[in-house]
Amino acid sequence: MWKSIRVGVLLMVLGVVASNAWLEQHRAVAWRDSLYVGVFPVAADQRPTTQAYVATLQRESFAVLEPFFAKEARRYGLPLATPFRIELFPALAAPPPLAPAPAAANPLTTVWWSLRMRWYAWRFGSATGRPTPHVRVFVLYHDPALNPALPHSVGLRKGQIGLVNAFASDAQGGANAIVIAHEVLHTVGATDKYDAETDAPLYPQGFADPDQKPRYPQLRAEIMAGRRAITERDQDMPDSLDDCVIGTATAAEIGWLTR
Ligand SMILES: [Zn+2]
Repeated sequence: MWKSIRVGVLLMVLGVVASNAWLEQHRAVAWRDSLYVGVFPVAADQRPTTQAYVATLQRESFAVLEPFFAKEARRYGLPLATPFRIELFPALAAPPPLAPAPAAANPLTTVWWSLRMRWYAWRFGSATGRPTPHVRVFVLYHDPALNPALPHSVGLRKGQIGLVNAFASDAQGGANAIVIAHEVLHTVGATDKYDAETDAPLYPQGFADPDQKPRYPQLRAEIMAGRRAITERDQDMPDSLDDCVIGTATAAEIGWLTR
C-alpha cells in the first residue's frame, strides 16, 4: 500500500511539473509581452577568487543580452521592443545537479537529470518579493585555472530552464554572454546548429551569412551554432555577442517569422 501511495504522490508531482511546464511554454511563444529571464549565479567551486567574482556580478554584467535580442527581433520585424528582459537574482549557495556529459547521456539519465533540474529550479529559482521569472538561467561560475574546459551547458524547453557553465573571469564575459543567449534560446524552442562531433557550424542554417562569397571566413556566428566557420575545417567563438546573429532557421523555430 505504501508503495502505491508513493507512486501516486510521484505521479501527482510529475503532473504538476508537466502542467506548469505546458503553461510556461504556451505563454513563452506568444511574444505579446517581454519574456522575463532570471539569471541566478552560483559559484562552482570554493576558491575565494570564484566566490569574490560571483559577489561582484551586477545587473550591468549581463547588460549586453537585452540589446542583442532586441536588435535581432527588430530585424525580423517583431512588434516587441524588448523580447527578453534580463534580471539578476541573488547568488545561490546550493549547486544545481550537473548535467550528464554528452558521451554518457542516454534517455534515462537525461530525463532523470531534467526532473532533478526542474525540482532545483522550483526550489531555488525565485526570490521573495520578486515575481518568478518565465525563464530561469542558473550560471555556474568556474575558476579558469581549475577547469580549463567547462562542462556542457544545457537549455531545457520544458520548464524553461538553462544551466550555463561559465568562467569566473571578466575576460570571458563576452563568451559567457554568448553561451547564456544560446541556452535562453533553447528554452523557447531553438535547436543546435552545429555538428556535435566536430563543433563545426552546419551549413546553411548555422551560418550567420550563408550567402557570403567567398563563404569563408565568416565574420559573425549564428547564435545556435555558437561558432563561426573560419575555413571549411576550422571554427572559432567570437569575442562578444556583437559578432553573433539569430539566423532565419532559429528565428522560425522561436516563432519570430510567423507574422
Ligand atoms: Zn545548444
